[in-house]
Formats: sequence, C-alpha cells, structure tokens
Amino acid sequence: MFKTMAINAGSSSLKWKLYKMPEESVLASGMVDRIGLPESLFSVTDGDGETVKKTADIADHDQAVQLLLKQLIEQQIIKDFKEITGVGHRVAAGGESFSDSVVVTDEVLAEIEKLAELAPLHNPANAMGIRAFKNLLPDIVSVAVFDTSFHQTMNKVQYLYSIPYAFYEKHHVRKYGYHGTSHKYVSQRAAEMLDRPLEELKIISCHLGNGASVCAVDGGKSVDTSMGFTPLAGLTMGTRAGDIDVSLLPFLMEKEGITAISDMIEILNRDSGLKGVSGLSSDMRDLHAKEADDPQAALALRIFEDRVKKYIGAYAALMNGVDAIVFTAGIGENDIQTREHIINGLSYLNAFIDPERNDCRGVEKLISSEHSDVSILLIPTDEEVMIARDVERLK
Ligand code: AMP
Repeated sequence: MFKTMAINAGSSSLKWKLYKMPEESVLASGMVDRIGLPESLFSVTDGDGETVKKTADIADHDQAVQLLLKQLIEQQIIKDFKEITGVGHRVAAGGESFSDSVVVTDEVLAEIEKLAELAPLHNPANAMGIRAFKNLLPDIVSVAVFDTSFHQTMNKVQYLYSIPYAFYEKHHVRKYGYHGTSHKYVSQRAAEMLDRPLEELKIISCHLGNGASVCAVDGGKSVDTSMGFTPLAGLTMGTRAGDIDVSLLPFLMEKEGITAISDMIEILNRDSGLKGVSGLSSDMRDLHAKEADDPQAALALRIFEDRVKKYIGAYAALMNGVDAIVFTAGIGENDIQTREHIINGLSYLNAFIDPERNDCRGVEKLISSEHSDVSILLIPTDEEVMIARDVERLK
C-alpha cells in the first residue's frame, strides 16, 4: 500500500491530504494556518472524520511539517514516516518550463523559485513547502504539479498578446492561465459522467471561486483560458478586477494621486471585483443576502454573471460548438441562482438548465434539461486527487 501526500502551501498556511493509493481513499487531511504568527492553528482530520485541533507558535514551514508528521504518528494514521512514499506539491506558475508535473530535483526547485516573478505571492511559498518536506523526508519523492501546465497546449494565436513580438521573445510575456489542475479534473470527470471519450468532447469549464476562470477544453486539451500572464485577468472575481482597459491605470493614478504602479495593481487585485463594485463584500453569499434592497450588491452579481456568459460565448465560437458546460469551485458548486442566470440566455446554443435538477449544492450532477443540446454539469473539483495521481505516475 502506498501513502501519498498532496500539499498546497501558501505563505502562511499549509493544507494537506494523505491518500492511500491507488485506491485514492483519504486517510487524513488538515491544515496549518497562521505560520509565522502567534498562535498558529493546526488541525488533523482522520479517516473517521475525527478532528484534532491545536494552537501552537509555529515559526516556519519546516516546523509546520515537523509537527504535522509527529501528529500523524501520534494519531496512529501512520506508524513510520517511511510509509509515506511520495509527496506532491501544488505550484502556481510553471511558465514555459513545465508542460507536465515533474519530480523535484535541485534544478527544478531553482526554476520554481526563478519563476516567482510570474507568481510572486505563490511560487516562493510553494517552494518553501517543498523544501520543508525535503528537509524532513529527504529520501521521499517530491513531485511538483503546476496550475499552468494544463494550458501549455494553447496555440500561439490564443496565448500571445498583441504587443511587440520581441517582448515575448525577450521576456516570455504571454498568457499562461491558472487553475489548470481543476479544469483538467472536471473535464475528465465530465467525459466519464457523459460516458463519452474525452477526445470527442468540446467542454467549457467554469471554475468559479474567489479566484475564477473559464477554460475551453477541446478533445481533452486546453485551447484557451480567461486568466492571463497572471491570475488578475479574465472574469470579475471576489476582489480581482479581471479584464480592464489598461489605459485606466495612468488615468486613475493621475486622478487619484497614486504614485506607485504597485499600489494600483494592489487595488486591482485586492479592492476590485465583487468587493469593489458592491462596496460590500467579495463573498457571493453576502451579496445574495443584500441583493433585494442593495442595488450595488445586485449590480456586482449581474456583472459577475455577464462576464462568465460572455466567455462561454467566446469559447463556444472558438471551438465551433460546445458539448458540455461544467460548473465547479465555491460559487460554481453552490450558487444555484448564479448558475441559472449564466445559462439563461444561451438558447442560441440550445443550452437549457433544468431548475429542479439545478436545485442542489456540492454534488456531481447533470443539471441541464432533457431537451438541452449542451450537457450542463455540476462537478465538485478535486485538485488534491490529481496531485496524488501525478505522484503515483511519476515516482
Ligand atoms: P472557493 O475560492 O472555491 O473556496 O470559493 C469561495 C467562494 O464560494 C466564496 O467567496 C463564496 O462567494 C462562494 N460560495 C460558497 N458557498 C456558497 C453558497 N452557498 N452560495 C453562493 N456562493 C457560495
């Protein structure tokens, strides 16, 4: 029996799941939060759903991993570290260097750190997680799974920006896309649910969470996606602006007396999107609660739906058709009204949602009506199992 860990390390957090492979059963899961801050939070949930929670001062990722491994033994989830045969790490940006997951060598780790200029918030934290496990479990295979690699099948026509070509040649500026592991998982599941070969399907995958992106998947390959060089582009998100006219930047900086471009980018990343438009919250639940009597909350919701609808139209055009539209992530899996509003008005595609089937949350389900030509699917995403599978494939 193989025990494989899937790790998602942030700058101050570390989320993990321990799998029994190849069965893919979850033996335990948990997280460490507030790493480097006083009273870090630490939790482990075992296979029976029992959760142990602790607070402790955890200075860094090394200490977090140390505590986690000790706790796994204490709760008898493992008897010996040697039972863990592989560890897979989610890494945000793989640039043009990684079109698939890879076993982490010193060179790979150096490249992940170099690619931090594409994902300054994420790659350094992901690398810290990798180093921490390598320090404590030096003989165990580490695999890096990139959010970008699924999109490396895009063509130049889709991934290039219409700017001087030399910028691409000199600096690799292009669309990379993100959420690739999620789009890949749900498109594979969609083919299984529809009992049709993935190679024959045109799928539009809508990963709608706090961060959100749409992906056109033709024959199992990503052909276009809404995020860009960074995860700031595309849809209206919880706090991110999505697509804007870049001429707004100098205009607003002058009008608002903002002198640093980094402050402007911060506004687009942290104060925009649903939060910026509504002036209320980045969370769809808060906006729905106020929608009836707060016009700004309603406006934010309509803008969110509008952007998703327009990307669906664009990707149906790009692929010359669509067989399935998939909803996943926090909003996609739970927001009944938003799913309905997005699909209503796609009658030109003969895509129709069934309100009764759509009246559900967080389950795998076909939610299109009998007479819809397009299958509308609700598929909870599972990026961790994809990481565990890649560890098994590559170790
Ligand atoms: P994620 O980033 O995938 O965890 O998604 C988080 C987002 O999902 C939150 O910001 C909420 O807006 C949304 N969400 C979660 N539960 C619900 C719900 N029951 N109804 C509407 N939106 C929800």
